[in-house]
Amino acid sequence: TAQFDIQAIRAQFPALNQDSDHPIVYLDSAATAQKPLAMIQTLDDYYRHQNANVHRGSHQLTASLTQRFEQARDTVQAFLNAGDRKEIIWTRGATEALNLIAQSWARSTLQPGDEILVSELEHHANIVPWQIVAEQTGATVVKIPMKPDCTLDMDAFHALLSAKTRIVAVAHITNVTGTRNPIETMIAAAHAQGAVVVVDGAQGIVHEAVDVQALDADFYVFSGHKLFGPSGIGVLYGKQALLEAMPPWHGGGKMVEKVSFDGTRFTGLPGKFEAGTPNISGVIALAESIHWLNSLDRAGAEQHIHALRQQALDGIKNIEGLRVIGLQPDASLFSFVVDGVHHQDIATLLDQQNITLRAGNHCAHPMLNALGLTGTLRVSFALYNTEDDVARFVTALHKACDLL
Ligand code: PMP
Repeated sequence: TAQFDIQAIRAQFPALNQDSDHPIVYLDSAATAQKPLAMIQTLDDYYRHQNANVHRGSHQLTASLTQRFEQARDTVQAFLNAGDRKEIIWTRGATEALNLIAQSWARSTLQPGDEILVSELEHHANIVPWQIVAEQTGATVVKIPMKPDCTLDMDAFHALLSAKTRIVAVAHITNVTGTRNPIETMIAAAHAQGAVVVVDGAQGIVHEAVDVQALDADFYVFSGHKLFGPSGIGVLYGKQALLEAMPPWHGGGKMVEKVSFDGTRFTGLPGKFEAGTPNISGVIALAESIHWLNSLDRAGAEQHIHALRQQALDGIKNIEGLRVIGLQPDASLFSFVVDGVHHQDIATLLDQQNITLRAGNHCAHPMLNALGLTGTLRVSFALYNTEDDVARFVTALHKACDLL
């Protein structure tokens, strides 16, 4: 692994190098990451030279492509240190993976009176699927409250856990404040009660090396697009025994062994959960993003990100009325508000200066409600950001706040 070299990395992101007179300052990587050339070229090359369907037909194109498609599964298995390649299921993203767990595992398992503990810090993608399945089964969604510092109230969590708890749903790292939840402790405590734990890794996978076996997570999900891959592809990791016992969710081609009007025999893992033509280009391009990421000094990248975040916090701390919300140690992002100024007005002024960040509720209404806020501005960093990006953000924010 090479040492972290910001200039060499930055050069690999065409979207950040389009207009040298007005370079974009991209501080919205928690929404979606920009894409490295290696990934973009993989997509281009696939459609130019290799396009075919997978797992169908017997011609040469489909055989070599199927092999490449299945190798991508091995890449993700190794990336997560999953025990078996069958435990890696392709989905459209974290959202679809969470819905799959809810509609297959939870829907076939939950009984009236069962409880699903969901943290108050969650993205809507890790709340709404549980509400839907609770409605369908008579189970109840119970909130694990957060403390004013935007960390989970662990005393409350331990008190809420009971024999009624069937599922604990929690983000590895949250998208509003970058809070890193104590998932190791939560998994151990949930297992002691016989509950399964669903970890939303949409943000966590980007900034930590994940070992699902060491974690002992029952399910771990993420989206490719935040991990420098294309959109429309994501991953569901599930423990083999759980996945084996789960009924299929979507029906169609490829997930069956034998279909007749008398009944259908489903295929085994992972095909059972992959009905229809998959996102082939997405799968192989995501694998390329992971290879690319693995070739980098990831620890060095995180140090770089932490230094940028500190530079930004130092640069804006004297702005009148500015409050950082639930500042978290070692996060890759932070959220802030400026008292008396609407977040959207600031975002608009920054946008006019080519500074791209996120303003709004971050798909986390419950968390924002708990904070008594309708929105924040969120600055999120990735390994391709530079000190110059931060300096331009700081200057632009001072200018915007002077104006407003
Ligand atoms: N969970 C978290 C913590 C997220 O940040 C996001 C994306 N903002 C999601 C889930 C949903 O991911 P996607 O929209 O890619 O399915």
